[in-house]
Amino acid sequence: MKRTQVAIVGAGPAGLLLGQLLHKEGIDTLILERRSAEYVANRIRAGVLEPGTVDVLERAGVASRLHAEGLIHDGVEIGFRGRRHRIDLKALTGKAVTVYGQTEVTRDLMNARASSGAPSVYEAEDVALHGLEGPTPRVTYWHQGAAHEVACDFIAGCDGFHGVSRRSIPASSLKIFERVYPFGWLGLLADVAPPWKELIYANSERGFALASMRSPTRVRCYLQCSLEDRVENWSDDQFWDEFRRRIGEEVGALVTGAPSIEKSIAPLRSFVVEPLRFGSLFLAGDAAHIVPPTGAKGLNLAVSDVLYLYEALRGYFRERSVRSLDEYSPRCLRRIWRAERFSWWMTRQLHRFSDDAFGTRMQQVELEYLFESPAAQAGMAENYVGLPFEPGS
Ligand SMILES: Cc1cc2nc3c(=O)[nH]c(=O)nc-3n(C[C@H](O)[C@H](O)[C@H](O)COP(=O)(O)OP(=O)(O)OC[C@H]3O[C@@H](n4cnc5c(N)ncnc54)[C@H](O)[C@@H]3O)c2cc1C
Repeated sequence: MKRTQVAIVGAGPAGLLLGQLLHKEGIDTLILERRSAEYVANRIRAGVLEPGTVDVLERAGVASRLHAEGLIHDGVEIGFRGRRHRIDLKALTGKAVTVYGQTEVTRDLMNARASSGAPSVYEAEDVALHGLEGPTPRVTYWHQGAAHEVACDFIAGCDGFHGVSRRSIPASSLKIFERVYPFGWLGLLADVAPPWKELIYANSERGFALASMRSPTRVRCYLQCSLEDRVENWSDDQFWDEFRRRIGEEVGALVTGAPSIEKSIAPLRSFVVEPLRFGSLFLAGDAAHIVPPTGAKGLNLAVSDVLYLYEALRGYFRERSVRSLDEYSPRCLRRIWRAERFSWWMTRQLHRFSDDAFGTRMQQVELEYLFESPAAQAGMAENYVGLPFEPGS
């Protein structure tokens, strides 16, 4: 049987970043990933990094391309009733966000992992976790037709919402908090220069739209859609026509209908599991929580979990500190719930909820208050750029 100190399930940003931080600390890891390396490297997802996330990526030694190619955004805009209102993040908080695609973060981390020589197994099938409550946790999996077994000290469940890690915990040991929203986001990626300078979150009478970008030559745009909708129902022309109607006249007039290179629908959900630990298994990232993407928090929250887990494991391997392991879940949950609140708030204010006249008035008054009150803007900006990390013990 092979042995490692930390078996990491999942090579998304959470698993890869944890592997990189632990490797730099001299702690052995094995990453097991269900998909192929090519699939993982090309997956299109988030794109807004908080300054705290950039700091952690720097600490992991994977931020040089990010600094060269990332776009610094000092503000975001909110469109409502035909007008755009800018929230000046920099003036309100002294901080800015960086636009740099999750695909690029993943590539940088995969390259760092490959250069470190630390082992990763892609296309690992039927990963299963054993002995979580005892002294000898193990992970089994199949790879290229052969069965494998790895003994370890700890298992990091970084395998996303649909992974095996959370499902390996008995239901009686978990509490689940969930809200499913009655709509999804239809996203389109296209290689064209964005005719907007900063992200625009638009609350329109036809539904929400988001104008964003991944680079100076690539846009990522979203439309609120029904849960029954299908990508096949939307030609590129139909997408862009609807986008122009929702994003507001001034920007709409500048939008060219560039062909899509990717189109997908994602349902919106808020989800938290408590606690994030079961014996020697620690959950991190989407395995433990989901936020609707409206607050741009999913990837950032995965990174803060990983920082906390890295510090907890470092405390254990350096000083045999069991306290650092015990603190992991409560420390994460304080930050997770704040990000859940902000993501829920942004989602509530910016989408169309059918048959909710009272809710629509509340939305209107909330947004008007936001546009008029520097105090309300400061609260939004503080959350958007990311609340500070808690110092570890
Ligand atoms: C379609 C989509 C769009 C998104 N858009 C945004 C956005 O615009 N803004 C934003 O902030 N956030 C967005 N998010 C959220 C953000 O991308 C996630 O929060 C982030 O990817 C979390 O990273 P993670 O490593 O925890 O999980 P993941 O990225 O999901 O990685 C988990 C990894 O585990 C692997 N895995 C799963 N099961 C197993 C198994 N049984 N065995 C081994 N490996 C397994 C998966 O293949 C995957 O590689 C989006 C998410 C999705 C799904």
